[in-house]
Amino acid sequence: MGVFPQVSRLSHTAKAVVLLGANLNRPEQQIRQAIQMLSTSCGQIVRCSSMYRSSPWGIVEQDYFLNRAVLIRTPWPPLALLKRLQQIEQQMGRIREIRMGPRVIDLDILVYGNRIIKHPALQVPHRFLPERRFALIPLMEVWSGWKHPELGGSAAQLLSICKDQGKVIRL
Ligand code: AMP
Repeated sequence: MGVFPQVSRLSHTAKAVVLLGANLNRPEQQIRQAIQMLSTSCGQIVRCSSMYRSSPWGIVEQDYFLNRAVLIRTPWPPLALLKRLQQIEQQMGRIREIRMGPRVIDLDILVYGNRIIKHPALQVPHRFLPERRFALIPLMEVWSGWKHPELGGSAAQLLSICKDQGKVIRL
């Protein structure tokens, strides 16, 4: 058996946005490597956002994070895409220790086309998206025309009502 479960590819490709985050071991390099791996195993990279430096969420006594969003065209259905992202996290040496704690790389599916997914292992749009400036800002950059399929607003509109006070600095 291969590493991936037997899942067939879609007959078309879907647009999805993956948020990358890192705050350990030369995070800039980790993000560069993850983008490389994404393009090999998850789909074609359409657009990459700028790099952003953001304050940590949850556990605040840790280094700032670097974040970047990537818009891809993927032939993989949502759960298969998630599996592939988790595989990249593992290959890059992410050890799941503290929730919201330091990490070499974190890969989240922010959006998958205009799909609404409520699966125990996958919620799309990402459930914290409306509450996190560090996700909304790079999303807006890579897919300005996207609209939240449940809430209705664009990333820019969600950002204008977002209560998150965290700093997000474009590098
Ligand atoms: P994290 O520690 O933030 O990487 O969370 C990983 C967990 O969140 C995994 O168990 C995933 O199954 C789950 N999860 C739910 N929705 C998503 C999503 N949109 N993108 C990535 N992971 C997700």
